[in-house]
Amino acid sequence: MWDGQSIENDKYLKTLILNSEQDTQSLAEQLATLPLTGSVWLAGDLGAGKTTLTRYWLQALGHTGAVKSPTYTLVEPYSIHRKDGSTKPVYHADLYRLQDPEELSFIGFDEYLDEPEALVIIEWASRADSYLPPPTLFIDMTQSVSDVNNIEARQVQLRVSKAGQAQGLDLSQLII
Ligand code: ADP
Ligand code: MG
Repeated sequence: MWDGQSIENDKYLKTLILNSEQDTQSLAEQLATLPLTGSVWLAGDLGAGKTTLTRYWLQALGHTGAVKSPTYTLVEPYSIHRKDGSTKPVYHADLYRLQDPEELSFIGFDEYLDEPEALVIIEWASRADSYLPPPTLFIDMTQSVSDVNNIEARQVQLRVSKAGQAQGLDLSQLII
């Protein structure tokens, strides 16, 4: 079992252990405070917690309604009202069922990616990685084997891309 909460601690690379959904929520709340635009690729097996993290993230950004998994629709758009009166567009995509990256142009995915200030959170970006622009941030989630207390831990690795580094993104404040 993992006992360290933070294995790596770097501006651009961080590995955290999430021992509960509350930890996942805490990470989401911290991610919501980062000045993030562009896309985030969320990788990990089915059940790793990608949608759960995104749900908490959207809520932490200020979304109050339901968060549906975009498994069938590919993309769910959100328009989040911020305290300063502005609106932040957030798109939650799940490309697991994508047959062909061309489908993304049919649904106008490029326009979401080009929108200034937009945050595009993409599960299963690997289905279209040659088609998509490089993300700002990579998040890889891995499910651990449940221990005797049936704790469902997750290991999460966050990595800032070159584009994210150019935006000045810094992960060193993230803690669980
Ligand atoms: P994915 O989108 O990666 O396929 P989901 O978020 O849909 O995964 O499912 C993750 C499941 O694991 C949910 O049922 C969630 O309640 C459960 N779970 C248990 N512990 C955690 C945790 N620490 N973080 C995220 N999900 C967790
Ligand atoms: Mg999912």
